[in-house]
Amino acid sequence: MKSEKTKNKKQGTKAVWGGYDDLFYQGATQVPVVNSVTFGYDNVDDWFDVAIGKKEGHIYSRNTNPTVAVFEEKVRVLENAEAATSFSTGMAGISNTLHTFLSQGDRVVSIKDTYGGTSVIFLEFLPKNGVEVTLCETGDFDEIESEVRKGCKMLYLETPTNPTLKVLDIKRLSKVAHEVGAIVVVDNTFATPINQQPLALGADLVLHSATKYLNGHSDAMGGIVCGSKKLIQQLFHYREINGASLHANTAYMLLRGIKTLELRVLRQNENAMRLAKHLENHPKVDAVFYPGLESHPEYKVAKEQMTGFGGVFSFSLKGEFEKVKTFLNNLELAHLAASLGSVSTLIGPPKVTSHVEATEEERKQLGIPESLIRCAVGIENSEDLIADFDQALAKI
Ligand code: PLP
Repeated sequence: MKSEKTKNKKQGTKAVWGGYDDLFYQGATQVPVVNSVTFGYDNVDDWFDVAIGKKEGHIYSRNTNPTVAVFEEKVRVLENAEAATSFSTGMAGISNTLHTFLSQGDRVVSIKDTYGGTSVIFLEFLPKNGVEVTLCETGDFDEIESEVRKGCKMLYLETPTNPTLKVLDIKRLSKVAHEVGAIVVVDNTFATPINQQPLALGADLVLHSATKYLNGHSDAMGGIVCGSKKLIQQLFHYREINGASLHANTAYMLLRGIKTLELRVLRQNENAMRLAKHLENHPKVDAVFYPGLESHPEYKVAKEQMTGFGGVFSFSLKGEFEKVKTFLNNLELAHLAASLGSVSTLIGPPKVTSHVEATEEERKQLGIPESLIRCAVGIENSEDLIADFDQALAKI
C-alpha cells in the first residue's frame, strides 16, 4: 500500500482516502475486516519469501494483518511519516516505545504533566529497569533544555498537556535534543494530526491514543506510533513479540472513525474556543486554560506550531469543590466521564479523574486548582452547549 493518490492532498482528503489503495474486495467500497489469525500459501517458496520479508504478505495476525495495515497506512499518511505501527491501546503504544528505546543505563528527559499512565511508567517501571528519568516543570523550557544538554537517549514530550493545557515548543526542544543525539517522541493525542504535525516540527516519533480523536466515538481503543522506517522497524519488532497488537475488528472501527477526523476536529476546535471565551468572561469562573486564548502563557508557541487549538479546555470555578459538583450534576448535554475526543462532550474534575490519587498538595504543585473542571468538547451545536453551561452555572 503506497497511498500514492493522497500524496499531495490536504488532511481531510487523506483522512478519507489514505491507505485505501489496494484492499477493496470484489468491488467493495469499504475495506474488508480480515478476521484470520493465520494466512495460507499455495507453496512453501512463497511462504518463505514472505517470512523473510522478500515479498509483501501476512503470516500471523499478531505480527501483521491486512485490515490493521490499512489503519496504520492511513495514520502514516496523515502524519506524513515513512512508517507506522499500531497497538491495542494508546498505553501499549507508549509503553512499547519507552521499552524499545530505553534500557539499563539510559536517561530520558520528560515533563511532570504527561498523561497519568505515562507518568506511572516514568516514576515506577523505568527506574526499576535501571533507566534514569528526569521530569521537568512542564512550562519551563529552559529547565528542559538544560536537562537535555546534560545528555539523554530520549526526550519525551506531550503537548498540549492534561489537564491544564500547557504547550511545549516542539521545534525548539527537538533541536536541542538532536544536538545530544537523543530521539524526540511526541504524544500528539490532544492535538491530532489535523491541528499539529510534530514530525514536521522536528520530532522523530509521533504517537496517539487512537481511542480518542482518531476513533472519535468512544467505542474502540487503539494506539499508533509513526516515524522513520528505521525506528518503526525496531518498535514493530518489540511489539510483535510483546504482543500488544491491534485487532482487525477494532482497526475497522478506527478506520471508520478517522474518515470524519477533520470535520470533527474543526468543529471541536470551534466549540472549545467559543466555550473558553464565554467562560473567561463569566463571573463565577476563576480561570480558563486553553491554548487558543491570548491569556494562555504559551499562546504564541501554540499559534506557531498548531493550526487549531483542539477540543479540550479546562476551567476553575470560584469557591469550593461543592460548587463543581453542583455545576456538573446540573449539566444536561455532557457525559460526566473520563476520556476525550468523542463526538459527545465529556467533562469531569481532575480531582476525581486523572489526579484522583494525588494529594491536594501534589495537585497544587502541578498547578491544578481543586475546583478545576476539564472539558473535552464534542461536536454538538455550540449555542446549545453555552446555554447548558450557563444554566448549570446559574445553579451554583
Ligand atoms: N496519551 C494521552 C494524552 C491520553 O489522554 C491517554 C488516555 O487518556 C493515553 C495516552 C492512553 O491511551 P489509552 O487509554 O488508549 O491507552
